[in-house]
Amino acid sequence: MYQQLATSFAAMSNLPATLRARLEEETELQVLSVGQREHSAATGTVKLLFSLQDGQAVEGVLMRYRKWYSACISSQAGCRMGCRFCASTLTGLARNLTQAEMVDQVLALEREAREAGGRVRSIVLMGTGEPLDNYGAVLGFLRLVTSPESLDLSYRHISLSTCGLVPGIRRLAREGLPLTLSVSLHAPTDELRSQLMPVNKLYPIRELLLAWREYTERTGRRVTFEYALIAGINDSLREAHALAALLKGQLAHVNLIPLNEVAEREFKRPRPQQVTAFALVLRKQGIPTTVRRELGADISAACGQLRHRVFTRVSRRRGEL
Ligand code: SAH
Repeated sequence: MYQQLATSFAAMSNLPATLRARLEEETELQVLSVGQREHSAATGTVKLLFSLQDGQAVEGVLMRYRKWYSACISSQAGCRMGCRFCASTLTGLARNLTQAEMVDQVLALEREAREAGGRVRSIVLMGTGEPLDNYGAVLGFLRLVTSPESLDLSYRHISLSTCGLVPGIRRLAREGLPLTLSVSLHAPTDELRSQLMPVNKLYPIRELLLAWREYTERTGRRVTFEYALIAGINDSLREAHALAALLKGQLAHVNLIPLNEVAEREFKRPRPQQVTAFALVLRKQGIPTTVRRELGADISAACGQLRHRVFTRVSRRRGEL
């Protein structure tokens, strides 16, 4: 299953026929199927829309970095965090994904990678859903994919992104796993962050930074702060300076994401000059800053947009919208 990527017990010809028959009867090998596939020839990015057994759908994306691949997977069908700029949360949370559904996404993306002559070496939990809102299944998933008898991936090559669920971050810190944690910050002040991300009303920036410090102290790992740049909302140089002041002298790295525009949302992406100017302010203050490379804009690989598009189409057909 993990090494040969078998998709049926029948294909496991090294097992006795009676065992194969019994396995087929008592269990199942795949809990999701590939419903739709989009491929960007320019970047090698592949986006898969997975159909789950109860009719739900989630997205997974394979991204190429030189010779190796990164698998971006979903942790929930939908999301209940309500971030104003995000497509994944438009219709709320349908349900948590199981550990098996997360592993199956990785295996399907690994199949794609092997067909292209590569391997999945890293995983990012940055698809649909808030991973720390599905804590148990996500931890089970991480333990499984890092175990030598399955995919044997290194925790150092796994990134978990959270909108800032403070109790989850503290709990994760205590697990002591050398994961890369990404925190979606998106604003340097509580006033602005609460407008963009309702979760900030529950866990304001000060608490988030304390949890983040606990995480870096316990794990020794640097935390990445994600900052989606939205034109006229959070992309001014004033915000850049405020962000620099907030993070200065800490074990932090900022990843700027020029907004992926979502049809249902009014927000716009800033001009490239603004992104460069924002990054420059941070770098001048000594904060390591990167700008996210774009790998999927041509195939709606960004942030829950494919799932949303397909779901909207299906609901329209059913006359629900
Ligand atoms: N729930 C987790 C993981 C989700 S998505 C989290 O909030 O971190 C991964 C990143 O994409 C997050 O930083 C999220 O805020 C960001 N994102 C969501 N919608 C976006 C959009 N339209 N444009 C750019 N980034 C977006």
